[in-house]
Parts: sequence; structure tokens; C-alpha cells
Amino acid sequence: MKKETRSDVLIIGGGLAGLTQAAVLGRAGVDVAVIDREPPSTHLNAAYDGRTTAISFASHRVLQAAGAWDAMQKDCCPILDIRVADGNAPQFLHFATDEDANGEPFGWIIENRLMRKYLFENLRGIESVTHLAPVEISEFVQNDASAGVKLKDGRTLSAPLLIGADGRQSPTRKHLSIGVKEWSYGQAAIVCNVTHDLDHENVALEHFLPAGPFAVLPMTDDENGNHRSSVVWTVEDKEAAKILKLEPATFDARLQELFGEHLGGVAAVSKPMAYPLGLMHADTYTAARVALMAEAAHVVHPIAGQGLNLSMRDIAVLSELVVSRMKLGLDIGSPRLLADYENWRRVDTLLMAGFTDLLNRLFSNNMQSVGLLRDMGIGIVDKIPALKGFFARQAMGLGGTAPKIIQGLPL
Ligand SMILES: Cc1cc2nc3c(=O)[nH]c(=O)nc-3n(C[C@H](O)[C@H](O)[C@H](O)COP(=O)(O)OP(=O)(O)OC[C@H]3O[C@@H](n4cnc5c(N)ncnc54)[C@H](O)[C@@H]3O)c2cc1C
Repeated sequence: MKKETRSDVLIIGGGLAGLTQAAVLGRAGVDVAVIDREPPSTHLNAAYDGRTTAISFASHRVLQAAGAWDAMQKDCCPILDIRVADGNAPQFLHFATDEDANGEPFGWIIENRLMRKYLFENLRGIESVTHLAPVEISEFVQNDASAGVKLKDGRTLSAPLLIGADGRQSPTRKHLSIGVKEWSYGQAAIVCNVTHDLDHENVALEHFLPAGPFAVLPMTDDENGNHRSSVVWTVEDKEAAKILKLEPATFDARLQELFGEHLGGVAAVSKPMAYPLGLMHADTYTAARVALMAEAAHVVHPIAGQGLNLSMRDIAVLSELVVSRMKLGLDIGSPRLLADYENWRRVDTLLMAGFTDLLNRLFSNNMQSVGLLRDMGIGIVDKIPALKGFFARQAMGLGGTAPKIIQGLPL
């Protein structure tokens, strides 16, 4: 590679969001460089990320535009039924695809590790995308016409638009001194994959327990035909370390208590990992020639499985704005484009951050008065089709003003 490389767009961070963003722009003919500090082999290691993602209906459209969906789909398990219960209260909210989603899946579950694998393979087939990993940034550089980075190996990369997709601790955001609002929930999510005796029948379950939600998400069967689900078990953060130290048989017994008997016997088949939970929102998503996206701009509670789905909507919007301006020969890093991006994305993100925060506060506690209120709420939503339809559309990522690729239109 040359000592100085200029592309149309430079993406810092090749995680799930950065890789998808690079592919969507690349497929539309935009010249993109995407860089990451970790080699792909680290990203594919099971110890790097033990999570699965619930990909919403809208996000699958973004992955289609990226060109990655067709290959990925075989490892994605469709969610056809969602059941939400408040502890052991009899009242529960039930969404069924035939009644609430016109027969379309509400979403799909896939392991993050596999999603990365498909995204790496996909990028290799896109000529206009250069993927550099691992690289180390030594400094950010900026002038009126471009933003970029100098690498430790002496190379310089720049573009009229730099996208910061470098995660929660975003070096791009920190370099720009963009402040954040953030707080911890005092909770951690323990995640692992399990096998179970009985078929999950594509049902996703969420039980609200006093320490936080316990979710069981349907996965594809393993290569031996064993039925699998992934678990997101929210606990108080001081409990997480103790739970991770349990002997495997004791851990399985704790899981079995939480599952009950509806899937038969359950056993963990991946190493349980804990993720501390918090909310983070950047004070602004933009600076001169820079757009922040995904977890560099916002982190939400996983209670509704919407973090990456929000990021997929960032990708859809930013791609549309870049490609439409490029077709007209306009500057794709202009203040106008950056303002349009921020205006389009901010409300959706704040609503989701507020909604997940409220859900968590309402459901993750033991107060009797709050318990009564939320059980009434669940009962009411379950009985009113218009309200249920609204929540189903939000879960599918179809609320708000949908960008072109989420409507299934070309860029
Ligand atoms: C328990 C749990 C369950 C979740 N479940 C869901 C779900 O079901 N559905 C959903 O939509 N979301 C879910 N999420 C959220 C989702 O996992 C995250 O939003 C997503 O993984 C973040 O991806 P990202 O690309 O924004 O950030 P990251 O994965 O953090 O990627 C950032 C990248 O930037 C790179 N980077 C950092 N610094 C530098 C640097 N200096 N130079 C170069 N590269 C750099 C990193 O190496 C990394 O590859 C869940 C989250 C949790 C905690």
C-alpha cells in the first residue's frame, strides 16, 4: 500500500458496525478504507465475543444491501414468536408472527463471531473496499478538505469523510473531545449458548426478574442436530463474578431453575461471559468531516436487543446521505451532510435509549406497586391490537422515517 492513501470514506473501527458500513458503501461504488487495531483472527476467536445478536427485520435489509445476508442466513434462526413474562406472574405478552408481523420473522438470532466471519468474507469480494487490520493509529490529522490518521508504520490515510465506528471507548470521539452522558446500571449480562432436549419452535422468551431480564433466544441446531438457544441472564454486577466461577454442573443447575422444564434438560455449551451494562450517549455525533456511529455514539441496555439494530439504522442513513450527494458531485463530508445525519438519527436513538432505560427501571425491581402497574401494562398491551402492532413494528426496526435500504429500495 502507498505511503499516503486517500479514499472517499475512511472508517475507524472494523467491528460489526464498521464492517457493515464499509460493505454497504463499497457495494454502492464508494471507495472505502476500513481499519481496525485487532487482526481478524482475534475477532473470530470465541473468547473475544460470546454474544449472539437479535437482528431485526430492518437490520436484515441493511445486511442485504451489504451483500452479506445470503451467506449469513443459514446460521440465522428466525424468531416467529415472542413471549414476555413478568417473573412468574400469569399475565404475559405474546407476539406471534401470523397475527402481529404478517408472517415475517420478527428477527433472527446469530452468533456475533459468525456474523463477523461472514462480514470479513463479504468484504473480500468488494473491490472498492480496503480492509487494514491490525494497524495502530499514531495520530489523527485534519484539514479543511479531509480528516484522517497517521499509522505507526508511517502510512497516512485520509478522506473527505471519516466515520468513527470504534466502539464505546471510541478514540475518534476522545480525540475530538466530544463529551458523553453515561451511567452504569449496576448490572451485568451473563451470556452463553445452551443445548436443550426439546425444540424451541422459534420462540424468544424474556422473563423479567428482580435483578433484570432473563432472555432465551432461539438458535439454529448445531451440526449434530442438537437444539440450541442463547441466554442473556442479567444479574447484579457484584453477582456476576461469583456466577462465572461456578462449577459447570452447578452453573447448569442454576440455568435449569431459570428455564424450568419447558425445553427439557439444558446444558451450557459455550463458556459463560459477563458484560457490564450501562447507557452512553455522545453529546454530538459529528465534528468537522467526522461522523460518529454505532457504539462510538450510543450504547443502550440490551433489554430489548436493540443496540446493534440502532447502529444498522445509522448505517442505512449515512449510506443514503453519502451516496445521494456523491451522485450529484457534492462534498460528502460537508457540514450540511453531517447535520442531516445527526438530525435524522438523534431522535430515534434518544427514544430507544429512553425506552430501554425505562423498561429496565420498571422491570428490574421488587417493588409491589410497580409490579402491579407493569402487570396491568402488559395485560393492556396484549389486549389492544394497535398497541401490540406498534411494539411489534418497533422490535422489527420499522418505526420512524425509514431510509431507502430499510424500505428494500436501492441506494
Ligand atoms: C449482553 C449483550 C447483548 C446484546 N444483544 C444485542 C442484540 O440482541 N441485538 C442488538 O442489536 N444488539 C445487541 N447488543 C449490542 C451489540 O452487541 C453492540 O452494539 C455491538 O456489538 C457493538 O458493535 P460496534 O461495531 O459498534 O462496536 P465494537 O464491536 O466495539 O467495535 C469497535 C471496533 O473498533 C476497533 N477499535 C477500537 N479502537 C481502535 C483504534 N484505536 N484503532 C482501530 N480500531 C479500533 C475495535 O477493535 C473494534 O473492532 C448486545 C450487547 C450486550 C452487552
